[in-house]
Amino acid sequence: MTWLNGRLEALTGDITTFHADAIVNAANSTLLGGGGVDGAIHRAGGPDIMAECRKIRNISYPRGLPTGEAVITGAGRLPCKYVIHTVGPVWKGGMRGEESLLAAAYRNALEKAAEVGAHTLAYPAISTGVYGYPADKAAKVVWKVLSARLHHHNLPEKIYLLFYSVNNLSTFLDNMPQPDVT
Ligand code: ADP
Repeated sequence: MTWLNGRLEALTGDITTFHADAIVNAANSTLLGGGGVDGAIHRAGGPDIMAECRKIRNISYPRGLPTGEAVITGAGRLPCKYVIHTVGPVWKGGMRGEESLLAAAYRNALEKAAEVGAHTLAYPAISTGVYGYPADKAAKVVWKVLSARLHHHNLPEKIYLLFYSVNNLSTFLDNMPQPDVT
């Protein structure tokens, strides 16, 4: 399923095996790994990514990467070139700035991707796992941020939204505008 003349695509898949110039990691503020997609990325990518994360943490973010911000590392053994680590918000009912923090996480990851000239970028569904952000509400934020970016910039040329299950993908699709006609 695609939008914006094919520049945005939603599909199911495992982001650790996905071929894109850059993939996004739904990290936590420690940058030292965790469960879910974060754990999967570090397991599949090997120790080089963690070593870089540790260095970034020590030098630039001794108190942790703030929610909504993003940093970039190499990709170790993964098939992509870069991993962009961002921290999505924990859902606390919707009145604690969650929407703008989720938007910031998507936007700052986009900016990191553009800085290294990534043509293709893949996101997992940030915050919708352990962090509990409702998938329907997340979809609206994702659309707002990504469609604005794609309307005004040529890079990335293409953005993929990777869902781990068909269920997650279909909740997302229910909350998106009409896709491109194919
Ligand atoms: P968060 O802590 O930001 O909620 P999680 O890792 O718990 O992050 O979950 C984010 C989303 O990533 C969830 O929808 C989960 O199903 C999905 N996910 C988990 N593993 C993978 C993977 N290997 N590839 C793509 N998505 C994944």
